[in-house]
Amino acid sequence: MTTKTMPTPTDLLTSRGDAGLTRRPRRLRRSESIRSLVRETVVTAEDLIYPLFVVPNSRPRVEIKSMPGVYQNRVAEAVEECKRAADAGVRAVLLFGLPEYKDAIGSSSWDPTGPVQSAIEAIKRAVPEMTVMADVCLCEYTDHGHCGVIVDHGGIKDVDNDQTLALLAKQALSFAAAGADFVAPSDMMDGRIGAIRRALDERSLTDVGIMAYSAKYASGFYGPFREAAESAPRFGDRRTYQMDPGNVREALREIELDVDEGADMIMVKPALSYLDVIRAAREAFELPVAAYNVSGEYAMVKAAAERGWIDGPRVTAEILTSIKRAGADLIITYHAVEFLSGR
Ligand SMILES: [Zn+2]
Repeated sequence: MTTKTMPTPTDLLTSRGDAGLTRRPRRLRRSESIRSLVRETVVTAEDLIYPLFVVPNSRPRVEIKSMPGVYQNRVAEAVEECKRAADAGVRAVLLFGLPEYKDAIGSSSWDPTGPVQSAIEAIKRAVPEMTVMADVCLCEYTDHGHCGVIVDHGGIKDVDNDQTLALLAKQALSFAAAGADFVAPSDMMDGRIGAIRRALDERSLTDVGIMAYSAKYASGFYGPFREAAESAPRFGDRRTYQMDPGNVREALREIELDVDEGADMIMVKPALSYLDVIRAAREAFELPVAAYNVSGEYAMVKAAAERGWIDGPRVTAEILTSIKRAGADLIITYHAVEFLSGR
């Protein structure tokens, strides 16, 4: 029988294990409680903005094929969806409208009885604590699907910047008059933030804020949104006004202009392929930075999860965490309610 000698306190102090390591980062990963104590980034309900699509009451509620779990809602259903979101902890929604009719200048977008205006009023009545933001753009409301007025420059059709500004301001005023807390211009015309700010202030709507889609890229990740918002351009693409995916310095210039013109929050869109842009915006500016986790990013997760190729909720949590870790204060995401409900 061998006698086992107990280690003395001095032995324990000098023992460094087999590898002789003095630093062992794994100590901070030993259990979920330790990991949660040292976690640097946690996505909370207050970080999330939930986008909603609103259709006229004459249309049925339809699930968007490429975005399972996301619907085109009538006003009453949008209100129900807001209640569900509020119960999950969501503090803000971002509304997109699909109008009754479309024309060349998107005039249905400033109809005071339009789907977005009606939804703003109804949500504010039913869920007063919900912050209501309204997307401002013409592409959902124009028959050509572009974000502004089309002009013909010697056979080349393009969106006219300055003619579009007045229409965007008109739309923004209409949403503000309906009770929107924020208007969120997504068109990428030069000077729109200033034009909208002046229009709001002239009508004493000084409390209505502007969340500017400042760095919005011409992206392939918007595909499913165009089905959801029925806003695909009939000809050409949006590369003459949305940003080139290769540019980050230009994003900072765009943001700077929006800040100077009076934006209250700035945004980078899409999020996942532009995490470096989010980081650069966070470092260069003091205003809250929002990032849009867009339809294509949502659809990829849903499609792969449906096939059992990835764990959907786990990947969603990882994506949202990465966007916040990159520097976003706010994340606009279709995952908002399911993410918060699943925690
Ligand atoms: Zn648009």
